[in-house]
Amino acid sequence: MLPLVKTSIPPRDILMPKLEEILYSGYVAQGEAVEQFERKFEEYIGGGNTLSLNSGTAALHIALILAGVKEGDEVISTALTAEPTNVAIKMIGAKVRWADIDIKTGNISPDAIEKAINPKTKAIIVVDYAGIPVDVKRIQEISEKYNIPVIEDAAHALGAKYNGKKTGNHFPFTVYSFQAIKHLTTIDGGALQILDNELYEKGKIIRWFGLDKKLTRMDNNITIQGYKYHMNNVNAMIGLVQLENIEKLVQKYIDNGKYLDEHLMGVEGVELIQYYPDTESSYWLYTLKVDNRDAFIKKMENNGIMASELHKRNDLHTYLNDFPAEMPNLDVFYSKMVHLPCGWWVTKEDCDKIIKLIKEGW
Ligand SMILES: *Cc1c(COP(=O)(O)O)cnc(C)c1O
Repeated sequence: MLPLVKTSIPPRDILMPKLEEILYSGYVAQGEAVEQFERKFEEYIGGGNTLSLNSGTAALHIALILAGVKEGDEVISTALTAEPTNVAIKMIGAKVRWADIDIKTGNISPDAIEKAINPKTKAIIVVDYAGIPVDVKRIQEISEKYNIPVIEDAAHALGAKYNGKKTGNHFPFTVYSFQAIKHLTTIDGGALQILDNELYEKGKIIRWFGLDKKLTRMDNNITIQGYKYHMNNVNAMIGLVQLENIEKLVQKYIDNGKYLDEHLMGVEGVELIQYYPDTESSYWLYTLKVDNRDAFIKKMENNGIMASELHKRNDLHTYLNDFPAEMPNLDVFYSKMVHLPCGWWVTKEDCDKIIKLIKEGW
């Protein structure tokens, strides 16, 4: 079965010497390798400051704290995402206020965001679902108009672009996950890309118990709540090796995604995702809308191609559904949405097989 997601680990002869070196270096905690990983990641993103962390969920949590969200506040979010996006809001003690999606893209709708804004709204989380960039321009405009900070959850969208610039450059906070099945894995890990230099320094303190690593333990004075969210040298070393090949790896997802877009255009029973102007998806998954989805999934699976909706609508989790809301676009989109594999392990022959199967009908 061609899997929907797959872990990418560098070749043994490249990774193992580096890993052994760090494991027996006597320093496996947060040190030089973490520092190097952060600077390399900044270079890859092309701007901002990288706060490396032990998960993407930690990145969401710190982003919400730095955005100034407090207990009892509201955060506008989407229900079409992986659960951590919304669980993180609850970690703060804040409430999740849903905004419906844009039916053309599956991403949070700027109009719905604007409707959901109220005096309790302290932040907006947007998700580049399956790698598809959000409507950056309109969301930036709304953020400015109402003076509400935006956190971009780009856990699916490493290397996706708007106006020729990668995710990580468009909003004050951008979240990445380096867990097993994302574009880049450090086994587990994450990063928060922060544009503001002062907030970056504050982020470093929050990730380490509220302690400032630049001062001695005795000179430290904890004044804010901190956590143990740092990345260690072992994960960072894996990340450094992964970064050597990341442009090429992400490009494979993009090439496959574009090839499928091109060849599935106009096929009966299929509706393709539309993309916002000046954006490029990084196609973590290939997403499309189909009639009669169950039969579609069955046909694909009978022919060795895994197909799935992957995520459960987050508003179906009682604990996350603080303000039950009508989301007619999500209802329609979710009933038709299906993901197909298009990552680095998918060959051109696999793509051709997928296209042929879809053209046959189901
Ligand atoms: C994977 C993921 C996260 C969380 O990342 P972890 O590293 O597993 O904590 C957050 N948001 C989305 C959309 C994700 O897919």
